[in-house]
Amino acid sequence: MKALVKTHAGPGLELRDVPVPSVGINEVLVRVHKTGICGTDLHIESWDPWAARTIKPPLIVGHEFVGDIVEVGSNVSDFRPGELVSGEGHVTCGRCRHCLAGRRHLCANTIGLGVGRDGAFAEFVVLPMTNIWHHWAGIDEDVAAIFDPFGNAVHTALAFPVLGEDVLVSGAGPIGLMATAVARHAGARHVVVSEPNAYRRELAMRMGATIAIDPRERPLASTFDELAMVEGFDVAMEMSGNAAALRDAIGAMAHGGGVAILGLPTAEISLDVNAIVMKMLTLRGIYGREMYETWYKMTVMLQSGLDITPAITHRFPYEEYEAAFSAARQGDSGKVIMDWRT
Ligand code: NAD
Ligand code: ZN
Repeated sequence: MKALVKTHAGPGLELRDVPVPSVGINEVLVRVHKTGICGTDLHIESWDPWAARTIKPPLIVGHEFVGDIVEVGSNVSDFRPGELVSGEGHVTCGRCRHCLAGRRHLCANTIGLGVGRDGAFAEFVVLPMTNIWHHWAGIDEDVAAIFDPFGNAVHTALAFPVLGEDVLVSGAGPIGLMATAVARHAGARHVVVSEPNAYRRELAMRMGATIAIDPRERPLASTFDELAMVEGFDVAMEMSGNAAALRDAIGAMAHGGGVAILGLPTAEISLDVNAIVMKMLTLRGIYGREMYETWYKMTVMLQSGLDITPAITHRFPYEEYEAAFSAARQGDSGKVIMDWRT
């Protein structure tokens, strides 16, 4: 099969012919239809310090995918060839305290698809049956391909109740864009998006933002009067990984507010702890998706009218992976999809 492989410790990826993975007794083999490119894939491609510390080549990269089942292991009874599925990219140990208690997203022994084991940028991918999610017939395959980052958005957006609340989304990358639509769908009053990139601010408006501001030009507090907000934001979602964005968010919170932090900064950030204490804020880190409550919520929100398709801006055949990666890397894009069917 064709696969996009990190062949050596250094920048770049190679499209190679490699064997189709064999299927263990508890595993499912999926023919990949479409994949989404994530920031993680860009880090691995460019071989930044995180990738150099984390990745052991050779490795097939990629973790966001949709495809149909072609083979199941002898222990697998819930899945059948032909079914349309995606995969949860965090493979958990199944034996730790949290896994045994059904809180698998808290497993400390997680192995990442396309990070710690061969991934989905290939014609076939294999995963344990416990990581497979059924789609309903007729789902848009582009949307199904990005259930993994959509899950990050849903996990973050539902970390605090947003019904009737004023919500800040810092960073309108693919995940911030989807979180904007989720907060709107879940009944937020206002969703203010802060994003320096004009193309992404425009996309944020299409995703349902009340207003989208450039944080370099406008302080967050300047939106309060315009939107008749009394005190500040009730809920904030940090989706930029940027230190100034997190500090600004804390400064613009109402008393008792909740700050859900998904963005991964590259260095430590110093924060105004007095503000966190005096405003009695709750800061909550968000990693991955809840297995499988987030997946359930994603599915039912799409079935009840949530539309995340404006966040998908570029589509390429897998042979043009270099163009796809470069579209994902430059800021004027939302989600970038690669098609693996020839
Ligand atoms: P992205 O890099 O495409 O988007 C980040 C956006 O933040 C960019 O559009 C950038 O212009 C914007 N930004 C930069 N400075 C800003 C500022 N001061 N204020 C507001 N916005 C600013 O990333 P993405 O793929 O959408 O992911 C969002 C974040 O979540 C990243 O930090 C990523 O590493 C992280 N992430 C975390 C998890 C997890 O499980 N915790 C999973 C996936 C991604
Ligand atoms: Zn575990």
